[in-house]
Amino acid sequence: MDGFDFLVVGGGSGGIASARRAAQRGAHVGLIESARLGGTCVNVGCVPKKVMWNAAQLAEQLTDAADYGFDLESRGHDWSKLVTRRDAYIERLNEIYARNLAADGVELIPGRAGFSTNHEVVVGTRRIEAEHVLIATGSTPKLPDVPGVKLGITSDGFFELKSRPGRVLIVGGGYVAVELCGVLAALGSRVTLALRHEHPLRSFDPMLGEALSEALSERGIEIVKNARAAHVERTNMGDVALVLADGRRLEPYDQLIWAIGRTPSSAGLGLGKTSVRCERDGRVIVDEWQNTHARGVYAIGDVTGRAMLTPVAIAAGRALAERLFGGKPESKLDYTNIPSVVFSHPPIGSVGATEQTARARLGDAVKVYTRRFVNLYHGVTERKAQTLMKLVCGGAEERVLGIHVIGQGADEMIQGFAVALKMGATKADLDRTVAIHPTAAEELVTMR
Ligand code: FAD
Ligand code: NDP
Repeated sequence: MDGFDFLVVGGGSGGIASARRAAQRGAHVGLIESARLGGTCVNVGCVPKKVMWNAAQLAEQLTDAADYGFDLESRGHDWSKLVTRRDAYIERLNEIYARNLAADGVELIPGRAGFSTNHEVVVGTRRIEAEHVLIATGSTPKLPDVPGVKLGITSDGFFELKSRPGRVLIVGGGYVAVELCGVLAALGSRVTLALRHEHPLRSFDPMLGEALSEALSERGIEIVKNARAAHVERTNMGDVALVLADGRRLEPYDQLIWAIGRTPSSAGLGLGKTSVRCERDGRVIVDEWQNTHARGVYAIGDVTGRAMLTPVAIAAGRALAERLFGGKPESKLDYTNIPSVVFSHPPIGSVGATEQTARARLGDAVKVYTRRFVNLYHGVTERKAQTLMKLVCGGAEERVLGIHVIGQGADEMIQGFAVALKMGATKADLDRTVAIHPTAAEELVTMR
């Protein structure tokens, strides 16, 4: 029987980071992956999405180019060429990941893993034992339980599209829905967004969802509110139609994309043969140290359902490896104030408390500063786009509790401000910082 000090199940963002760090600290490490190395982020998530977002950004800038004096004629966009180049880049990344694992001495074990006990995992005919086992199996796109559901695709299917669909219906209002909306619309598709409620991005400060709704409408995206899917049909013309619970019919579409959240990949792992416990929706239950209920079995990343973001999976995985093999018994991830960017059009950057959560905690001791303006970039363009900013401050010292931005440049702006917030910056600290002019970011240090 094979044996490792540390056996990692899942070669995505978190699993790879944890395996490599453990190996760098001297552990004998095996990593099991059933599909392509790199997991969701590299193959069907952050990376291909950002390439598509970049293309959409270019499309918007090409529209503005004439106002900047360029005499350009765009003869359209070759989706298939972009996809070929994108996928070639991803294949290079897959190879780099394999090389990096080998360089650190991590043994890559291809195949699907299943637990037979807390400390034994089976892959094909191979039985592998380890003192420490990490579950880093990620998540998969969720599908609704409605007839005809298979007539739609998910984000995984979006990345397989070899041509751009002309008319698209996207169901959902989270990160994936609004990101795909922006990409498809900017590249020329007619897009409808079907929301369960009034606005998208309900887990964020409402200012962001409301401003994004406006921006999507300005870009010609149709928003259908209070839309509950009942069933999906193929019409006589071969198009797709979505019938809503209240009888409304949304049609005709070439493609329907479900973007309604993700399911943790814990089913099928044989966890019933272990003492690991899961929530009803499949999230593996862990404590603040990533320990499951089974001693020596840990879980990180999307499979735990907590802040489903690549840097979170990586940071939790590295912290765990340091705790187990790096002589740092106190090493764990601090899950507070995790910044994130929604790559919508325009992008959104957000960190910390929303106005509502701050008020629920501190009541009248919350002070909010807002700004709404048109970026100088649009000074000479016919196309105008608003930027909105909100600072949420709390207590007599006006500690910055939340920073929320929608508008051009928000994606690259929020990381640095997140450092300040994490360090406990106050409004006075922001005021003391000399502005950089002319930028959009300067507005965050000049608010009155
Ligand atoms: P994953 O990366 O999903 O890796 C899990 C791996 O485990 C997979 O490779 C899977 O094949 C493997 N596996 C599963 N079961 C088994 C088994 N039984 N045996 C062997 N192997 C198994 N996050 C960001 O921070 N920024 C972004 O811009 C961003 N964009 C995204 C865009 C989209 C469309 C999506 C869907 C997600 C995006 N995310 C983004 C989220 C990010 O991709 C995930 O949070 C991250 O990949 C989670 O890492 P993980 O290691 O937990 O799981
Ligand atoms: P999210 O959790 O972000 O959003 C799910 C959305 O689906 C919500 O708007 C929710 O609506 C809606 N919804 C849920 N169930 C239904 C239903 N039955 N019918 C209609 N709508 C429904 O999920 P995503 O799939 O967009 O993304 C998954 C995760 O991946 C994100 O949470 C994020 O952590 C990560 N991600 C990160 C990205 C980034 O960092 N830029 C990009 C993409 C993904 P309601 O609000 O009404 O409840």
